[in-house]
Amino acid sequence: MNNSLKNAPGGVSKVEPNTQSAMLPAFARAELAFERGNGAWLTATDGRRFLDFAAGIAVNIAGHAHPHLVTALKEQAEKLWHVSNLYTIPEGEKLARRLADLTFGDLVFFTNSGAEALECAIKMMRKYHSANGQPERYRMITFEGAFHGRTLATIAAGGQKKYLDGFGPPVEGFDQVPFGDHKALEAAIGPETGGILIEPVQGEGGVRPVPTQCLRGLRELCDKHGLLLVLDEVQSGVGRSGKLFAHEWAGITPDIMAVAKGIGGGFPVGACIATREAAKGMTPGTHGTTYGGNPLAMAVGNAVLDLVTAPGFLENVQQMSLRLSQRLAELKDRYPGVIAEVRGSGLLMGLKLHVPNTEFVQALRQEGLLTVGAGDNVVRLLPPLIIGEEEVRHATDAIERAASTFARAKSSNAA
Ligand SMILES: *Cc1c(COP(=O)(O)O)cnc(C)c1O
Repeated sequence: MNNSLKNAPGGVSKVEPNTQSAMLPAFARAELAFERGNGAWLTATDGRRFLDFAAGIAVNIAGHAHPHLVTALKEQAEKLWHVSNLYTIPEGEKLARRLADLTFGDLVFFTNSGAEALECAIKMMRKYHSANGQPERYRMITFEGAFHGRTLATIAAGGQKKYLDGFGPPVEGFDQVPFGDHKALEAAIGPETGGILIEPVQGEGGVRPVPTQCLRGLRELCDKHGLLLVLDEVQSGVGRSGKLFAHEWAGITPDIMAVAKGIGGGFPVGACIATREAAKGMTPGTHGTTYGGNPLAMAVGNAVLDLVTAPGFLENVQQMSLRLSQRLAELKDRYPGVIAEVRGSGLLMGLKLHVPNTEFVQALRQEGLLTVGAGDNVVRLLPPLIIGEEEVRHATDAIERAASTFARAKSSNAA
């Protein structure tokens, strides 16, 4: 306090500025800061270059500083930033129409984040049954290893002890079942159950794709019991799986879907997309947001959609996914003591390891490759969706160097 301007006489400090971080230490941050980015590459403040296979945690789908997104943001910034949802927002009307036309959905609610998109989805599921005269059907079945965000409702939905601990009684109404346990799932459906919430590919939980068979089974189960199927495509959506949305691989549609991350390409945008039927309880005044869907966010969202729907975009994701997974499978064969399994869908890939994932992420960073850890001792590879063969080669070369270092360390420990 002494060295801050607060206590200095006349408001002028003669002592050293306070160099301690004033950021809430809720994150274990790396001591690495970036100055600028271009495509899949980032330049750190100290000049080092990194290949970005983290993409802001599956956000920067068009890489960094994509000219189409920069132009959209600049042009909108010079016209209008924010007016609130008291008024019609033409850019939002346009994005909602496009999303509805491209998906199962009829109606869209825009948010600023994934957790808020999930909050809307959860509230909508509850309101649907209430509007049908069954307000007691407010419960939702979720899956072990799930991640749906950090608000009070979404940590309850995710059900992870480490995120619930110390935050008081969890929000009521979520029943969690083990991942892939069909018997437990059927047994969990009761007279108060109103919906099932699932990520088509678990991201934070360790890159665990739900088999297409199971997604179809969930759809049937929901139809049979009058439940709403709610998909969390915050991480798996907007092209990341190689389709616009991951559930398309299974040929099914949900009733409600939460989207965020990639849809803003780095600008905070989320969306809750629903059929008209599922949304029937959401009448004027039932839900709201101040920032959600503001003109800046909507201009960028439309520009992102221009890119993702352009011919060849999803094909590139599928091709790069194939190359990446082939190369990773080779590395798994070559370093079986380090890499246990390669999993994922599209460019949401995971390496399940025999060595600590946190150490591996650090080793990759030393090699100039940015990745993200996940549950189940997995390292996530989440590159921008615009990568080409050169980036795949560069990334897998870095992974090979790190894997061989770990393999050598392991064999010298064993000796
Ligand atoms: C990141 C994520 C969320 C939460 O999104 P925020 O924007 O951090 O609130 C929810 N669900 C899934 C599957 C996610 O990956």
